[in-house]
Amino acid sequence: MDNNQPIYTGKAKSVFRTPVPGELKVVFRDDITAFNGEKKDTLAGKGQYNARVSAFFFELLEKNGIPTHFIRMEDDKTMIVRELTMIPLEVIARNVAAGSIVKKFPFKKGQLIDPPVIVTDYKSDEHGDPSINDDLILALGFLTTEGLREVREMTLKINKILKDFFLNVGITLVDFKIEFGCSGDKIYLGDEISMDSMRLWDIQTGESMDKDVYRLGTGDVLSVYGNVVEKIISKK
Ligand code: 5GP
Repeated sequence: MDNNQPIYTGKAKSVFRTPVPGELKVVFRDDITAFNGEKKDTLAGKGQYNARVSAFFFELLEKNGIPTHFIRMEDDKTMIVRELTMIPLEVIARNVAAGSIVKKFPFKKGQLIDPPVIVTDYKSDEHGDPSINDDLILALGFLTTEGLREVREMTLKINKILKDFFLNVGITLVDFKIEFGCSGDKIYLGDEISMDSMRLWDIQTGESMDKDVYRLGTGDVLSVYGNVVEKIISKK
């Protein structure tokens, strides 16, 4: 088997086999995309920023009892992870209204959502990542009733841990997207937790510190991402 060929290439990460069965290598590339790939760029150093932040949060979550796919960093942008069978769902937790929820429902941007809400999209570029509900998830066999309960519980716990962490460094965790996968019967948190997959607002200024800066073209994406890394690492 040629371990130099990715077994999966996403919009910003590539996944490779390793010589170790059950372990994969995830390379965080410098590519950034928005609007289902319609807007695309390469920003030198962005892969490292997202890899460092993801590794940091996977470690924090593991310490708090959440099973994640993270094993170790191989270099600044390469993560060794447990191989999972991914569940094709984007699980989104929201603490403050922003983005698609404001377009679809009568929330005002910035409105507090307490208790937080979890919404789920079917991860499929072909279908445009449509919203999906529990009945559809069961009917499609993506999760069992017990699996649904576990994913919901884990997501709420992850939200609490991340929200409290960010509050401590002067950032509001507005929302985030996570993905889960299975190894045997066990569900693990997979994919990434980075500025590409969260909405972060500076508590003082309300400014975005995440991919919205790229989506909306409102600033220098690399310096914003670098600023988040600094805040998180300095807290360490
Ligand atoms: P929204 O549904 O408002 O577009 O996104 C909610 C949250 O989930 C945001 O933090 C957004 O960055 C994240 N999110 C939603 N879809 C995707 C996706 O396909 N990829 C990534 N990386 N994040 C997503």
